[in-house]
Amino acid sequence: MNKENIAGIKSRFFEDISNSQTEKSLYDVKVKYVGRNGELTKILKNLKNLPPEERKEIGPLANRARHEIEKAYEERKKELGERIDWEKEKIDVTLPGKKEEIGSLHPATLVYREIEKIFPLMGFEIVEGPELETDWYNFTSLNFPFDHPARDMQDTFWIKSDKKKLVLRTHTSPVQVRYMEKRKPPFRIIVPGRVFRNEATDAAHEHTLHQFEALVVGENINVGHFKYIAKLFFSAFFGKKVDIRLRPSFFPFTEPSFEFDISCTVCAGKGCPSCKNGGWLEIGGAGMVNQNVFVSAGYPRNRYQGFAWGFGIERLAMMKYKIDDIRWFESGDLRFIKQF
Ligand SMILES: [Zn+2]
Repeated sequence: MNKENIAGIKSRFFEDISNSQTEKSLYDVKVKYVGRNGELTKILKNLKNLPPEERKEIGPLANRARHEIEKAYEERKKELGERIDWEKEKIDVTLPGKKEEIGSLHPATLVYREIEKIFPLMGFEIVEGPELETDWYNFTSLNFPFDHPARDMQDTFWIKSDKKKLVLRTHTSPVQVRYMEKRKPPFRIIVPGRVFRNEATDAAHEHTLHQFEALVVGENINVGHFKYIAKLFFSAFFGKKVDIRLRPSFFPFTEPSFEFDISCTVCAGKGCPSCKNGGWLEIGGAGMVNQNVFVSAGYPRNRYQGFAWGFGIERLAMMKYKIDDIRWFESGDLRFIKQF
């Protein structure tokens, strides 16, 4: 046990740590020299057995060596930690990228977006209203007689409430009166939204539907304006020239009322299986706003005229995308939704 021993340990330690390329092997080197049974540790443990003269000389040397070794270990460890691991960092730029699963828009959403793109170009404002309505806005203000069958339990979801009679709105028309209470004509609005019917579902009927309403009010509005706007809209929507046909009908909130058809988008009116050879496709209902509705909104009777029309978003999507069953829309079935 002498000074040369300690100098030898130190020089071998420095050589070993400079050869260490990983933190693990570096740690093994530390253990080899200053671990519990390390070479230098053995010398330190043996100090007490040395004669006092030798102990005085070797002791400080050994302690200094341990100090230097620990300091050098820490420095090397830091150095290795800062080094870039090129094996781990390597990237292969020729590998194909990871494909992200991108969702698609629901067909009803696609139709809404199309509508909300076309109408503002014709000066229409987009307006929304509540899905939970009072009996007043959903029926009475729209000139529904108290004994109208639409108020019957068969068609309407009534909500239990202490105060007013509440319903899940059966159409988007309540927004007509809500809007007119706050605004003065002239105006043009569209009202997209969800509506609810208490009815059995089949390929053509659903309990939850998306509807779309248009209302134009002014002092000189007539049926010709309706036909013109409808023609412009459906031609833009289907991307081809479309004609409009009116048939007499009845709705409480319009007078006169009519159903309207568009020329078949498949055969352009010549007759094909899509239009059952008639050349026309049924689209929705429309009419001139009943003066009683204007009065409900606080307008003077016979001061303004306007037209209103509504139709189902699902019906439009079914025509545009050739969908055969309305129940697909609320099904949440990915096989259906992913096709759009
Ligand atoms: Zn046809």
